[in-house]
Amino acid sequence: MQSLHHDLGTPPAINASGKMTALGGSVLSEGVVAAMGEAARHHVVMDDLMAAVGREIARATGTEDGCPTTGAASGIAIAVAALIAGTDVSRIEALPDPGDAPCEVILPRGHSVHFGAPVRQMVALGGGRPVEVGSANKVTAAHLAGAVGPRTVALLYVQSHHAVQKGMVSLAETIEVAHAHDLPVIVDAAAEEDLRHWPATGADLVIYSGGKAVGGPTSGMICGGAAHMAACRAQYGGIARPMKVGKETLFGLVQALREYGTAPSGGHRPRMEKLAARLAGLPGITTRVVGDEAGRDIHRTELTVDPDTAGRDAAGLAAELAASGVYLRDHHAATGRLTIDPRPLNPDEEDQLVRRLTALLDGETNR
Ligand SMILES: *Cc1c(COP(=O)(O)O)cnc(C)c1O
Repeated sequence: MQSLHHDLGTPPAINASGKMTALGGSVLSEGVVAAMGEAARHHVVMDDLMAAVGREIARATGTEDGCPTTGAASGIAIAVAALIAGTDVSRIEALPDPGDAPCEVILPRGHSVHFGAPVRQMVALGGGRPVEVGSANKVTAAHLAGAVGPRTVALLYVQSHHAVQKGMVSLAETIEVAHAHDLPVIVDAAAEEDLRHWPATGADLVIYSGGKAVGGPTSGMICGGAAHMAACRAQYGGIARPMKVGKETLFGLVQALREYGTAPSGGHRPRMEKLAARLAGLPGITTRVVGDEAGRDIHRTELTVDPDTAGRDAAGLAAELAASGVYLRDHHAATGRLTIDPRPLNPDEEDQLVRRLTALLDGETNR
């Protein structure tokens, strides 16, 4: 593998930024790699495999059934398509034209985010018409209820650090409004870690990425009630065909879900405190350990960069590190802060990161 990285001129990156699609999602465990290899060696009846993986997803999420996808993004498109067309083959084959079927998907304006592509575009891909309500920083249950009408097919709630975190209607209120009108709620919980929590809120269709918290291959899943999931899988005869999931990915996703179920979560705080202490003496850098913006059980080391002493600002430092193959989390670079995410970083890479930072900031490499 190392040789292909070399041949292609795309060396392995040191990822301290989190589960980033732009850096290839997750590094897979040996067990997941082996499962994908096993799948690659045989033919299999794909409809049966899709259904079986749906049952694995159901087990992992505490739901009735599941639908595997290529990612959370396609999960949004497929969930919307399923709610518009159900299992009606003519409607499925007409999408993304919804015909006369209800197709409006209501979402809080602060949830209409860009995760690498816009959420609203994924809604449209599934035949939905996104209807944003309220303002970017203020959305109430009354905004949602006021937008419900005969053309409404679902309400969409985006649980994410990308979404505006204050002034937004809660998921409980969203579900209350939807269910009062006999409408389903779709939750995009792409990067969430607790797979059982979000379906247990009463949301009808919950979407996760398989390549983020779960640590699987580039993949995703929808989970929920049996009828909804049958309708989701039926979309593979329609708009989901160009989003089909390969057998290798399906095996990898199952193995990752099985391993995830038994893995201890969290526990990064002591490690990040040690790292913060190691980096604290660098010129122009102050460090502290911070909790996750979206409330997940993740702790990160935050570096605040003083440009006068460090000789460059946070964005400049991030760019220099990236040029040497090290990627920090830079969502808050504009305010002088960079963070180090422990999840994708092994101890050897953590040492390399410390060495590169040290070399850049005080020109010595033997810290
Ligand atoms: C990452 C992300 C997606 C897309 O997930 P993929 O698995 O990469 O398709 C969708 N929504 C949110 C909120 C995300 O963070």
